[in-house]
Amino acid sequence: MTGISGAHRVSAHSGHELIVTAETRPFFEAAARGVLLLGHCADCGSFHYYPRPFCPHCFSDSVDMREAGGWGTIYSFSVVRNVETPYCVAYVALDEGMTLLTNIVRCDIEALGIGQSVRLVTDPDAGDVALPLFTRAGRPG
Ligand SMILES: [Zn+2]
Repeated sequence: MTGISGAHRVSAHSGHELIVTAETRPFFEAAARGVLLLGHCADCGSFHYYPRPFCPHCFSDSVDMREAGGWGTIYSFSVVRNVETPYCVAYVALDEGMTLLTNIVRCDIEALGIGQSVRLVTDPDAGDVALPLFTRAGRPG
């Protein structure tokens, strides 16, 4: 693909192409290491997802990326069944307050339910870049 620098790979879970640019590469590289990066604004102190070059709350460009705790709950989900290997697409409400669209993997997707606790996991098929994925998990302690 012209005009976009960086790696391209197809998600094993959704079949969607992951397009990585110079701006988004740190985010996808962190996800491949099992780290979820959120955008953080130095001016208003708020977090945002997805990370972007400006704060969506106050439009400041004094933003950087900070590591999320990696825990959340299923806000909504759907199991895609009209494919060879069914997979789960879900909105996960992060402990930090924002919601992200992701896949729930490496668990019984037939047993998933709204409100269940999930944690960030790495994609075993990931190369140097990946999408942040979640699996069902009980809270520690
Ligand atoms: Zn801000």
